[in-house]
Amino acid sequence: MQAEILCVGTELLMGQILNTNAQFIARKLSALGIDLKYQQVVGDNEERLEAAYRLALSRSDIVITSGGLGPTVDDITKRVLARVAGRKMVVFPEAEEMVRRRFAEYHRNMTPNNRNQAMFAEGTRILVNHHGTAPGAIVPLDNGCEVIHLPGPPSELEPMFEESVMPYLEKRSEHVIVSRYIRIFGMGESEVDMRMKDLEAGSNPTLSPYCSLGEVMLRATASAGTHEKAEEILTPLVKEVRRRIGHVIYEISGTDHGGLGETAVTELKARGWTVAVSEDATGGLLASALAEIPESEQIFRGGMVFPCGAGICRDTAEERARGIREQMRTDLGISVVGTAVEAGDVPAGTVYLGISTINGTRVKQVCLSGGRDRIRKLAVKHALSMILEELG
Ligand code: ATP
Repeated sequence: MQAEILCVGTELLMGQILNTNAQFIARKLSALGIDLKYQQVVGDNEERLEAAYRLALSRSDIVITSGGLGPTVDDITKRVLARVAGRKMVVFPEAEEMVRRRFAEYHRNMTPNNRNQAMFAEGTRILVNHHGTAPGAIVPLDNGCEVIHLPGPPSELEPMFEESVMPYLEKRSEHVIVSRYIRIFGMGESEVDMRMKDLEAGSNPTLSPYCSLGEVMLRATASAGTHEKAEEILTPLVKEVRRRIGHVIYEISGTDHGGLGETAVTELKARGWTVAVSEDATGGLLASALAEIPESEQIFRGGMVFPCGAGICRDTAEERARGIREQMRTDLGISVVGTAVEAGDVPAGTVYLGISTINGTRVKQVCLSGGRDRIRKLAVKHALSMILEELG
């Protein structure tokens, strides 16, 4: 089954808005093990959209569109598809009811053109939109292809994809797809790639790397007729990855949500340990990285923020880690002392990380490179990783 994404909107084409919908859908399809072969972006122009549909339907089994489902004349996504498919546009009473209900909830008056939001090509299956007025749709075509229409606003498209499209695609796929997300900190992308090269060449299971600042995630995916069989295919691959680079893996999970902050909070909670932070180089980013994780209230007691570059040395990091732990009466105190810009004869990126528990206090120095923003974010990741190291 081959999929294609078709995003509609002149704003998108001209770069006024970033195409986050394409990124979101692409990542979800890949997690489902569905082949994504092409993406297109087209403005609100009927002729060019028609050409884009014809091309997409000539080479893909599933075409997922985003945008252009609104009530105005430049919302052409559904109408042009109906023309390409040789179908009539008709009002779907259940879609009309959804639009009416949504307007009532928002205490807004429905104008006659809002009825357009309830019109789709004949033979369409309507998808509920719990987060906006425009329903989505799945349109099966005579040649066996399917077009899935989703609205443009990411706050509507993303939950609709999760709630309606994912289960539908999972069912349509002849295979059960099982994935493991292997999160790595402390080894660069090229080094991971070099060590995994032969494993990445496989087709079932597959192993694909994804990089973000300072981190690498490997997604291992297997597809098979049953869940058990897929697990059976996947297990040796995950074991081999662990054997090769187990020392830098901080988490292996079954979902693509997560990161160092989530894992640190989960592990602290599992131990029943509380934490406090003292930071200068990162200006509050470490506290924020912990605080933004739901349920961190149970373990995060607060902290202190100093001006960047004040008293950069190993001893300061040690004193602050111990001091904040004692002052806030937590199980663990962590300090970040350093500078993200050049400070006198101290080069930018010089950072000391201190960690203190009842068992003692230790300090680690890291030398980070890049601009100010990158150094600050990397320092936070090192601090979170040090918490995980301490928890073993
Ligand atoms: P509505 O019913 O709200 O009019 P729509 O389906 O007609 O939705 P558009 O009018 O095409 O969608 O886009 C609405 C808004 O959604 C855009 O102004 C933009 O902010 C956002 N949007 C559209 N497409 C994308 C995209 N591919 N990635 C990110 N945001 C997008």
